[in-house]
Amino acid sequence: MMMTHTLMNLPFHDNALEPHISKETLEYHHGKHHAGYINNLNKLIEGTTYADMNLAEVVVTSEGGIFNNAAQVYNHNFYFKGMKSETTTPSKQLVDLLNRDFGSMEAFKEVFLKTAAGLFGAGWVWLSVDGSGSLVLESFSNAGNPLLSAHTPLLTCDVWEHAYYIDYRNARPEYLEKWWGLVNWDFVSQNLEFFFESRHGFIDPCNENSDLCDYVDSVERTEHSNT
Ligand code: MN
Repeated sequence: MMMTHTLMNLPFHDNALEPHISKETLEYHHGKHHAGYINNLNKLIEGTTYADMNLAEVVVTSEGGIFNNAAQVYNHNFYFKGMKSETTTPSKQLVDLLNRDFGSMEAFKEVFLKTAAGLFGAGWVWLSVDGSGSLVLESFSNAGNPLLSAHTPLLTCDVWEHAYYIDYRNARPEYLEKWWGLVNWDFVSQNLEFFFESRHGFIDPCNENSDLCDYVDSVERTEHSNT
């Protein structure tokens, strides 16, 4: 049994996030960059033990090129699912934990965006939950990912230049401020709820009965003959 990873569909129309994130940005970001990581991953895992693993398993067990491409697929799935053009609001459970661990929603926004603005070079900023149920803010270079520290991801922001350079040029803080207004708090809240329902999220945050991470649906399980 070999898994062929396929590019997820955007959960919104490609012009839905305008004027904050343009159709052109999404055409490149999803249609070229995200798609490129999928294609590279499928080529690299062919004929290896990674070909039989789901995406999260590949992320936590691989290194080098396979890790870079698998994590970039996972991270982009997460990033695109974490945005919505319609206004959403965080659940009471999420607000309570943000208040407890960051002081307030405003304080969380400030530290998250400040961390994202200050991340040197390309990378990702995450809100995650650790094994004890505490919220943690993490930033990683390149393809970095909270699954590696056994944390369950709730929200991520892509600060690679390809995420904002067409629309904002070098003005990363402007992109971040607009991105904040697009955060899909339903998705973030659902991820938190899922964590409290099953404490195994970091191995495979998506199970068959969950609609929280549709990427499982985008992984095509294909029987390959040996010919
Ligand atoms: Mn990206």
